[in-house]
Amino acid sequence: MPYAVRENLFIGNISDAAEVLQNGGGEITHILSVLSSASISFFSEWRSGLLIPSKEIRKVYAGSVGPQDDSGDTSKTSLSPDKLLYVLEYAGKDLKFVRMAVPLRDMEGENLLDYLDVCIDFIEKSRKEGSVLVHCFAGVSRSAAIITAYLMRTEQLSQEDALESLRQSYEFICPNDGFLEQLKMFEEMGFKVDHTSPIYKRFRMKVLGDSYNRGERIDSSKFGADPGLPTEEISSEIGTTRSGGVSIPAYRCKKCRRVVALQENVLDHVPGEGETSFEWHKRRSGNPFNKNDEIECSSIFVEPLRWMTTVQEGALEGKLLCAHCEARLGYFNWSGIQCSCGSWITPAFQLHKGRVDVSTV
Ligand SMILES: [Zn+2]
Ligand SMILES: [Zn+2]
Repeated sequence: MPYAVRENLFIGNISDAAEVLQNGGGEITHILSVLSSASISFFSEWRSGLLIPSKEIRKVYAGSVGPQDDSGDTSKTSLSPDKLLYVLEYAGKDLKFVRMAVPLRDMEGENLLDYLDVCIDFIEKSRKEGSVLVHCFAGVSRSAAIITAYLMRTEQLSQEDALESLRQSYEFICPNDGFLEQLKMFEEMGFKVDHTSPIYKRFRMKVLGDSYNRGERIDSSKFGADPGLPTEEISSEIGTTRSGGVSIPAYRCKKCRRVVALQENVLDHVPGEGETSFEWHKRRSGNPFNKNDEIECSSIFVEPLRWMTTVQEGALEGKLLCAHCEARLGYFNWSGIQCSCGSWITPAFQLHKGRVDVSTV
């Protein structure tokens, strides 16, 4: 039996969803399935002989999300373009349910954040048209995490308060630790997934680093757009900026002036903070007259960008060469690089300040 969380909003497990799809669901009209596969065949794999009719409405891939959202972010998505974001279909008896299915595993390293917007929007719309059941396999972690995010945004609740409130309706909820961390980030970003936020950028780098460490191939689809190439998106962005009279800081190769990074590609760090900032403190105390100079970072760290062909070759570390003149601009290392300020950045894509100039585009 699905549990009511709010008016027109229910939580349940796969068995609840199967029951609704097969035999009709009382007031339930919409279903949000969060399972490791978005395919309706997941139900027949779970219980053989269970065949649920379905008719696809549309399939949306992660790469196509950017331009559609109006958050102002148009290009960066941490999922590769070929990754399925969701399937929308009619399903169940007489195809009377609208089902949105999101492929997400219940693992700490899974990227929940990138699915939150579409899931929250679906829940919101469904509640206006009828009632929605949000379910995963056990009804404990994934569905609970998504409903928690929904309550956080719609009721402006902290992560803890939203969880507590959900627990009052259904005591068994227990999102995994990775999801809890991401829900905390969601709160810190103001109940939205802000791709320009340092919080999101750091998270995205961690996801990328984790997938490198798992031995997955990191292809350029996971990299940021090359700011030195006049792609449609970027040139229109710059065009707007020029006519608007606001300037975007850009980093150029000192030797040939090619743009190699924009300010939005930069991952800020707090100077001296990190695992081994100890050595920095030692050095600083040895030279008390020069404090401020030593806090100055000798490098900037950026997200991996499409011009970084040496990174795409798959090595753990290597040089970063200018895509135009091949001047050495910096270094990358998936296991991290220590900035001159003492901070460790992991993974690190480093540009030496001595090799790039800051100017406006
Ligand atoms: Zn630094
Ligand atoms: Zn160059």
